[in-house]
Amino acid sequence: MSQIDTPLEQESAIYKTLLESTKAIPWRIHWDSLSFSYIGPQIEALLGWEPASWVSVQDWADRIHPDDREWAVNFCVAQSKAGVDHEADYRALCKDGSYVWIRDVVHVVRREDGSVDSLVGFMFDISERKRTEQRLIELQRELEALSFKDGLTGIANRRRFDAVFEEDWVDARRSGKPLSLLVIDIDFFKQYNDHYGHVQGDYCLKMVAKVLEKAVRRSHDFLARFGGEEFVLVLPETDADSARQVAERCQELLVQEWIPHERSMTGKALTVSIGVGTVVPMYGDERQSFLELVDRRLYQAKLRGRNCIACAD
Ligand code: GH3
Ligand code: MG
Ligand code: MG
Repeated sequence: MSQIDTPLEQESAIYKTLLESTKAIPWRIHWDSLSFSYIGPQIEALLGWEPASWVSVQDWADRIHPDDREWAVNFCVAQSKAGVDHEADYRALCKDGSYVWIRDVVHVVRREDGSVDSLVGFMFDISERKRTEQRLIELQRELEALSFKDGLTGIANRRRFDAVFEEDWVDARRSGKPLSLLVIDIDFFKQYNDHYGHVQGDYCLKMVAKVLEKAVRRSHDFLARFGGEEFVLVLPETDADSARQVAERCQELLVQEWIPHERSMTGKALTVSIGVGTVVPMYGDERQSFLELVDRRLYQAKLRGRNCIACAD
């Protein structure tokens, strides 16, 4: 004898078909027993666990990535107890050991007296969205790194220098320790370009950057291309004597590198002039004035015939 479905049963069947044909995975948890009374069969296609294996809330908790588990469980339990609808993103464990990013959207069903009867929800696969988000974060990082990097030499650029110099200035003011600054400018670089061409000029700037990088010994010392053929070295917690030694080291390393410069007036190889300054910044002192002071010293070094270091007025 064939059973004729009642209209109610027919309607339930339609809803069931609808629920089980969506990409979102429906589920229902009975609150008092903390057990699943339903989970859509789509869960098996997504995570590999068959619907019958979802018995208690513990099964759900066990299948959350260990790094997400504590907060996800605590959050969902607290919200459910408070009777608040909520959603949580976490990585769900697949049967094969991999993880899938899930967004669980939860509705709390209450009885007439206000007590929690059950939780119903949908799990959405958001791995694609997470991948896009992650890629965006990476791109943003790359972009940020690029915006602080000099395109030619690969060392920090002027923008980065401004930020680092400001930070070191504040630190020095707080600690009362001397901060030193070197402004390094290539001698007769215009003649270098005129003689060897701009392409070789560019290559020369890269070599100088490499040489100066070698002069940087301590992790907090900071080198940047200030612009054109000019470089800056910020030396935190460095007194005038030590700063002068670093400047001398820059010159020595450059001599060792011996970059030919036929048209230089200081010899047959490329040289630099260096302005050096040291300060213990006080409140009210201007960073910019200090930079200008060191720049004036560089100018003095140029006036003295170049290939020299100017430390004091
Ligand atoms: P001084 O000894 O007084 O420093 O003279 P200088 O010739 O080095 O200085 P000047 O300021 O007269 O010329 C700097 C030259 O540096 C001119 C400019 O074309 C060159 N320059 C600046 N940036 C670059 C660059 O990125 N690549 C190349 N190849 N040359 C550059
Ligand atoms: Mg210059
Ligand atoms: Mg120059």
